[in-house]
Amino acid sequence: VTQAHLDRIAQVDGAVHAFLHVDAEGALAAAKAVDEAATPASPLAGVPLALKDVLTTKGIPTTCGSKTLEGWIPPYDATVTRKLREAGVPILGKTNMDEFAMGSSTENSAFGATRNPWDRERIPGGSGGGSSASLAAFEAPLAIGTDTGGSIRQPGAVTGTVGVKPTYGGVSRYGLVAFSSSLDQAGPCARTVLDAALLHEVIAGHDPLDSTSIDAPVPPVVAAAREGLKGDLKGIKVGVVSEFSGEGYQAGVSRSFEAAVEQLRALGAEVVEVSCPNFTYALPAYYLIAPSEASSNLARFDAMRYGLRVADDGEHSAEEVMALTREAGFGAEVKRRIMLGTYALSSGYYDAYYGSAQKVRTLITRDFAAAFEKVDVLVSPTTPTTAFKIGERVDDPLAMYLSDICSIPANLAGNAAMSVPSGLSEEDNLPVGLQIMAPALADERLYRVGAAYE
Ligand code: GLN
Repeated sequence: VTQAHLDRIAQVDGAVHAFLHVDAEGALAAAKAVDEAATPASPLAGVPLALKDVLTTKGIPTTCGSKTLEGWIPPYDATVTRKLREAGVPILGKTNMDEFAMGSSTENSAFGATRNPWDRERIPGGSGGGSSASLAAFEAPLAIGTDTGGSIRQPGAVTGTVGVKPTYGGVSRYGLVAFSSSLDQAGPCARTVLDAALLHEVIAGHDPLDSTSIDAPVPPVVAAAREGLKGDLKGIKVGVVSEFSGEGYQAGVSRSFEAAVEQLRALGAEVVEVSCPNFTYALPAYYLIAPSEASSNLARFDAMRYGLRVADDGEHSAEEVMALTREAGFGAEVKRRIMLGTYALSSGYYDAYYGSAQKVRTLITRDFAAAFEKVDVLVSPTTPTTAFKIGERVDDPLAMYLSDICSIPANLAGNAAMSVPSGLSEEDNLPVGLQIMAPALADERLYRVGAAYE
């Protein structure tokens, strides 16, 4: 199976560019170990996987899509990587992404864009476009993404695949190169909800190496997916978020969403409309909080500890080497975020920007709590449009940021959320995603409803 996927990668990845690095030798060695083992280490033993290049892999390059980390070979495995290895999952390689996971199209990668297998003139979403595109192109049956503001779910939606952001703290962040630590969360990408559930159970669980890891049992997501596959949602209450419709939503996306809601009803769910008024402010709050944390996290790339170092010629001071390396190593979007974040955190502006954004974050968490008193899950489109053309939004950061308008509230509140394929838009025949959101630590609800729906 691993060899077949490596062959497929060799055949199509020149056109798709989902991978930054393919580790054929390592993947085949892992597959061989599974063949030789007396008993399989997990239900996924021998099922190969594509890993987003933001998770460290011992002995294998990890670039985060940045020139800053070109040539850096991590000396340790992320906890997610270690768990995959222990489960006998061969890692095919590292997937392309927007630099440091900042973006919604994978065009911010320093190593060239990934193309959407449905239409190679279009983006595969971002930041985890490589992971989702590898699934859609049948280069891998499973992948790992990370979701800070939608980077698992939006690529899932626009490539017609499943993507799950687990509850914050459900999957260890140890070895996940930090973008915005209070939001970052790794999760499963797959072509079916049950596959995603099997992967979820492999990677989730408490980790003493991550201080924000939750010490609670892993939600029973595989059992929930199997229950959902029976196709009966009687007794489940679904809330349609009223704020996520109307202006800015493509007609094809809206019609697909309406059809999805009808289908949930037909499966027996009770559907009601729910208003979450503060969701309207999620995007501006996110674009203060995430860059603020990024400006601090990315300070570690100081030309001394990792990867790139320029002007190290004895003529330049340490400060100059640091400044020139950061100038050369970071792309435009990363610099924009560092500047935004530094400004938002600076004395005199802190209360007005960062402080206000944190208050909005609390209001959004309260909106969720109020909604989940009335319903079991909330639903919305995953993203307002289908895959846009490569180049279309690169010069307009605000248009790019709008791709995540529906996905960001779940990150700010730390909730669990999934994107499940919802057919093709009748406008352009491109995939559309249905977003399902559940309370923190109730990830199983996503799988129950998602499996029933898909
Ligand atoms: N597109 C969003 C951003 O650029 C989300 C990224 C992510 O989830 N990593 O910040």
